[in-house]
Amino acid sequence: MARIETTCVQGGYTAKNGEPRQIPIIQSTTFKYDTSADMGKLFDLEAEGYFYTRLQNPTNDMVAAKLCALEGGTAAMLTSSGQAANFYSVFNIANCGDHVVSSSSIYGGTYNLFAVTMKKMGIDFTFVSPDCTEEELEAAFRPNTKAVFGETIANPALTVLDIEMFANAAHRHGVPLIVDNTFATPVNCRPFEWGADIVTHSTTKYLDGHGVSVGGAIIDSGKFDWSKYPDKYPGLCTPDESYHGVVYVEKFGVGGAFITKATSQLMRDFGSIQSPQNAFYINLGIESLHVRMKRHCENAQKVAEYLSTHDMVSWVTYCGLPGDRYYERAQKYLPNGSCGVVSFGVKGGRKAAEDFMKNLHIAAIETHVADAHSCCLHPASATHRQMNDDELRAAGVTPDLVRLSCGIENVDDIIEDIAQALEVVRNTEY
Ligand SMILES: *Cc1c(COP(=O)(O)O)cnc(C)c1O
Repeated sequence: MARIETTCVQGGYTAKNGEPRQIPIIQSTTFKYDTSADMGKLFDLEAEGYFYTRLQNPTNDMVAAKLCALEGGTAAMLTSSGQAANFYSVFNIANCGDHVVSSSSIYGGTYNLFAVTMKKMGIDFTFVSPDCTEEELEAAFRPNTKAVFGETIANPALTVLDIEMFANAAHRHGVPLIVDNTFATPVNCRPFEWGADIVTHSTTKYLDGHGVSVGGAIIDSGKFDWSKYPDKYPGLCTPDESYHGVVYVEKFGVGGAFITKATSQLMRDFGSIQSPQNAFYINLGIESLHVRMKRHCENAQKVAEYLSTHDMVSWVTYCGLPGDRYYERAQKYLPNGSCGVVSFGVKGGRKAAEDFMKNLHIAAIETHVADAHSCCLHPASATHRQMNDDELRAAGVTPDLVRLSCGIENVDDIIEDIAQALEVVRNTEY
């Protein structure tokens, strides 16, 4: 097994004699066969191969194979977005009438997907605090629970998941733990090593890393044995009539069943496929992921330390800061660094936070996070602007909160920029 840095650069594809060294973009919707019988075998899942890019594409599969190697899984697929990845990961095993336990500290889009859209599909979610006790977590399970979900480092709250505790509880109840590993990336945390069963990504963030393409991925550890629970997971353990009676766990084994089913049913029917061109961009990003993550974390650590001593800053959240609520947990799960995102409060509240951001020159105001360029967001006036101050506090977003995603620029430039913007705020009456 190559080390992670080598896998970032070379994983997923090895050129044979005379082939392109770089992962080629196979920009073709369709693939040619000599006989209808040849193609029929593909439709029956009897032979491996490509026939239509809505289901699978060679470029996408090479990039998925690299992500699979980075996370230490057995099978992986790309999706058109992180939203599609999280939807597929849950909907692949939970249907109308089923129930899922999720950490309450998750990305807003995922919360909406679960609490509103998937609820309309008849799937119930119970949200538990990432800081819940083992007893509180136990109490969330029901007989029809099919999965547990959480984020390694939550966007935007920056809480750190106790992956082992959540995995153990899931396994006691015979269900898998799905972890969205977007903010940590496999460079800083590999959730499978702590017991997670399925990992998802919004590749839009650090994996792409340059803010050029929206995408997602699902990786299976191959460790969760669906065949032990045929009644709970009939979709994986009983014949799929839409594929001539194939039984996924029998035909593709514990390591291949989940991703094959998600590809052949969900991708076929919902079609949230990644474009090969964008998969190529994701791969370019992953080639430098290990170098960039180190710099993102170094910059964020220095920025967090600077902010924590500044008299115009009322609080700082960054799990790399000793004294942070998640410092100990981060030392366990993220010993080499967490991510580049820091959140903090500007003294003076909502208006001061807005003025601070307006005066930054290096960090741009964006809803995006986690790429090479520094950027910032004021949730109270952007993503959460429909809420009043009381509602904001209930959602864990204070009116003074600034989310700063530290890029890989020179950290002294980032800090000097923050310093001058805080001086503007100091000299303004609020
Ligand atoms: C951005 C994000 C998503 C959604 O991903 P898209 O690629 O924007 O669809 C899901 N989870 C986390 C943790 C994210 O940061």
